[in-house]
Amino acid sequence: MTTQVQVKTYLNYINGEWAACSANKVDKSINPANKNEIVGYVQSSSKEDLDAAVAAAKEAQKAWRKLSGAARGDYLYKVANIIESRLDDIAEAMTREMGKTFPESKGETARGVAILRYFAGEGMRKIGDVIPSTDNEALMFTTRVPLGVVGVISPWNFPVAIPIWKMAPALIYGNTVVLKPAQETAVTAAKVIECFAEAGLPAGVVNLVTGPGSVIGQGIIEHPDINGITFTGSNAVGKRVGQGALARGAKYQLEMGGKNPIIIANDADLDLAVDGTISGGLRSTGQKCTATSRVFVQADIYEEFKEKLLAKVKELKIGNGMQGETWMGPCASENQLNTVLSYIQKGKEEGATLLYGGERPAENGTEDGFYVQPALFEDVTNDMIIAQEEIFGPVLALITFDAIEEALQMANDVEFGLSASIYTKDIGSMLSFINEMEAGLVRVNAETAGVELQAPFGGMKQSSSHSREQGQAAIEFFTSIKTVFVKA
Ligand code: NAP
Ligand code: MG
Repeated sequence: MTTQVQVKTYLNYINGEWAACSANKVDKSINPANKNEIVGYVQSSSKEDLDAAVAAAKEAQKAWRKLSGAARGDYLYKVANIIESRLDDIAEAMTREMGKTFPESKGETARGVAILRYFAGEGMRKIGDVIPSTDNEALMFTTRVPLGVVGVISPWNFPVAIPIWKMAPALIYGNTVVLKPAQETAVTAAKVIECFAEAGLPAGVVNLVTGPGSVIGQGIIEHPDINGITFTGSNAVGKRVGQGALARGAKYQLEMGGKNPIIIANDADLDLAVDGTISGGLRSTGQKCTATSRVFVQADIYEEFKEKLLAKVKELKIGNGMQGETWMGPCASENQLNTVLSYIQKGKEEGATLLYGGERPAENGTEDGFYVQPALFEDVTNDMIIAQEEIFGPVLALITFDAIEEALQMANDVEFGLSASIYTKDIGSMLSFINEMEAGLVRVNAETAGVELQAPFGGMKQSSSHSREQGQAAIEFFTSIKTVFVKA
């Protein structure tokens, strides 16, 4: 497919205006399913543009914070309705820009709508407690105040849901926002911000500045007028965000990588476990922070599980995510593809056995895309690089175990702790897993990659700054508590 649809240039959104960046420089956003297809041109902004956005956000915050939560919620409901009315258009941009299948893109965009509605409602829920004072003539209570200007730095793998699950709580609690999305998916981000703009939010409340992470992301880290930074992305960049924010006393929140295990016990429903492994490990081409990458299988059922898994993985249809029959799209970028291929090579060098896949597919129409077949490794030990480092691609490492305790010990023996799952019918195994698994999200008889917007989300160990996003947990980051003591 080399259809060259009309290529549009997307602008920054600063202080209620769409504008080219000050240096008049653009980057190409390309389709990973066909690298010759340009999805759009996006601004390659510089520090000056960020400064203008932060100044606008700072000014706008004075009035925004004074609105009632209900009034701010009304704006979020409007944004939700506009996004819903453009669901297919936004989802198509997402698929063309980063490769996930169109149904997945639609699901993610619908999730964005639901998140906006959830947080719109939060504008009318309680934000404090009354605490009995030791002075019985006094009233003591807590309330919540916004941080001020929040910098949002988001990755390319959930280009709609992640910016929204950061922006919606930021806004409902009275903060204003400067969004710096991953440059890989800046077209999708611009389409989301168009919906905020059309909902009529006051100028400066939401701002979009696209550009290189090293300039705009780093600029957010260092900007003295940004009071809070919420980041999702890699550990390497997350560490810089945390250290930079700490150095100047800004609040920060980091959601980073994972190396998520699935444990399959002898008594598991194997068909369910196979489906959970495939869906959790390979959907979105394995590019979810919660994706399954280590598959611990109890020895007695190993051969049977492996055969069932292999048979189903071989059936998965790889292709352009806009085509109806496609189950798995390409890697999101050439960089990402090369990373995946290099891990597959490392796995072979370390002595793991490549059971299936891991090659560039040879089917017609895939030669110009960043495609790779799903890769299944066996004879993996938990200390191998492919069992320890985040690959962020469709690569599964099969590891056998004898006793559940051994599986748990290996599952925990990794620097990450984002999500984990177990397939078993035994209540004792479930409880050991729930109690001992070092992960922010533990799931029983369900894949590692399920997240619900009304529940807290975040990781343990190196996977996060130990904060939580989404649901009612979001208020913790996006506000400060004020303790009030009143006496007549
Ligand atoms: P990334 O390279 O860390 O990029 C994340 C964001 O940081 C992008 O907007 C990027 O901008 C920006 N950035 C790059 N360098 C920067 C710098 N020096 N200072 C400040 N910001 C900078 O991560 P990614 O490759 O986009 O995303 C994949 C990673 O995200 C994986 O590790 C995955 O596990 C993680 N992830 C975690 C979660 C979670 O909730 N735990 C969810 C999704 C993804 P550019 O676009 O210009 O590079
Ligand atoms: Mg792209």
